[in-house]
Amino acid sequence: METILLLAHTETDGSLAKSVREALHVAADLHKALAGSKLVVGLVGEDIQASANSIAACPATNYFGVAGKDFGQSRYATDAAAAEAICKAAQATLVVAPATSRWARALPGVAQRVGGRVDTHVTEVSSTPTAGVGVNRWYYRQRMEATLTRAQRPWFVLIDPGSQAACQCGAGTAKIETVAVQLSDACKRTTMTGIRAPAADAQTIRPDAQLLFVTGAGWTKKQADGQTHVPEAEKIIRGFLQAARASLGSSKSLVDQSGEGQAVLSFMSHLNQVGQTGATPRHPKGLSTCCHGEEPHTVGWRFIGERRAINLDPNCGWARGKADVLYVADAFAVMGKVNELLAAKK
Ligand SMILES: Cc1cc2nc3c(=O)[nH]c(=O)nc-3n(C[C@H](O)[C@H](O)[C@H](O)COP(=O)(O)OP(=O)(O)OC[C@H]3O[C@@H](n4cnc5c(N)ncnc54)[C@H](O)[C@@H]3O)c2cc1C
Repeated sequence: METILLLAHTETDGSLAKSVREALHVAADLHKALAGSKLVVGLVGEDIQASANSIAACPATNYFGVAGKDFGQSRYATDAAAAEAICKAAQATLVVAPATSRWARALPGVAQRVGGRVDTHVTEVSSTPTAGVGVNRWYYRQRMEATLTRAQRPWFVLIDPGSQAACQCGAGTAKIETVAVQLSDACKRTTMTGIRAPAADAQTIRPDAQLLFVTGAGWTKKQADGQTHVPEAEKIIRGFLQAARASLGSSKSLVDQSGEGQAVLSFMSHLNQVGQTGATPRHPKGLSTCCHGEEPHTVGWRFIGERRAINLDPNCGWARGKADVLYVADAFAVMGKVNELLAAKK
């Protein structure tokens, strides 16, 4: 009989992130599919009662918690100690957790400590009476998808945020069983002094955005008048991102330009690159502008739903079955007009 543990940490404000509800959805589905299984919740954080209450209507029978000032921050030593203690107290055989950066750092070590196995970047979990529990994950830059099963327990499964629907279970009052953790002084040597992050409107990568807006090298190339228009491109792109709250992706050619000393968009970094040697983001829609749509770039669009592109070249890569709609047009003109319409709508 499996004991499924949904393992989560709270955010700095004491709430649970959406990725926790996604992992809980997976854990609850598994519990439903595995006859005789038990679903329990484990929480780590400075104060966990409110977050436990926020999901108290889920089908879990027990809540285990490690709370206190030492567990409010993301720190390997204390996170691993807390997760290990909860796994042991719950006698978990399947541990389902969101693949947050905090858990992705700590849980592989915990799996080692408790003699288990871990799979990260899981995008699907299934279960059948014959094959047992199986997980899906992608390999080779998202080109091959594999389904794996494991006999080893406990099995830690880290669910990629954004790959699942969030569970809708409501609030209530959860009775938490406190799990004691002995921390040596060495565990507390590292202290998080703060988070350095760009200002909210300078943050261009937004995993939860409805739209991925991709910019290509064309934005910095000579246009019909024989001149480049980089400051205008910056203004249009920035204006659109602010109005549409889209996430900014880029082709490799554009992000590489800074290294070559060319005129570049100041807010662009390698983190924005989409493709074979970049990211593979997940968004319901994508709009590509001034980007040719070559295979090493479009392979990063695997998880983008509806795809549109704006390119001057009717023969560009997007025209070859890679976009649902290709607008053969000047992206400066189209996006300038779109920004005008969005501003008028406000
Ligand atoms: C091993 C390997 C890995 C790679 N990995 C990646 C990767 O991860 N991601 C990636 O992106 N690339 C990757 N590449 C590079 C990729 O093959 C392309 O070179 C790159 O994507 C081209 O970028 P681009 O389309 O922005 O530039 P270009 O090919 O220069 O295309 C610019 C486009 O802009 C259009 N344009 C210009 N002005 C306008 C305008 N006013 N309005 C509309 N359209 C306009 C042009 O018609 C043109 O199609 C990789 C290549 C290799 C060999």
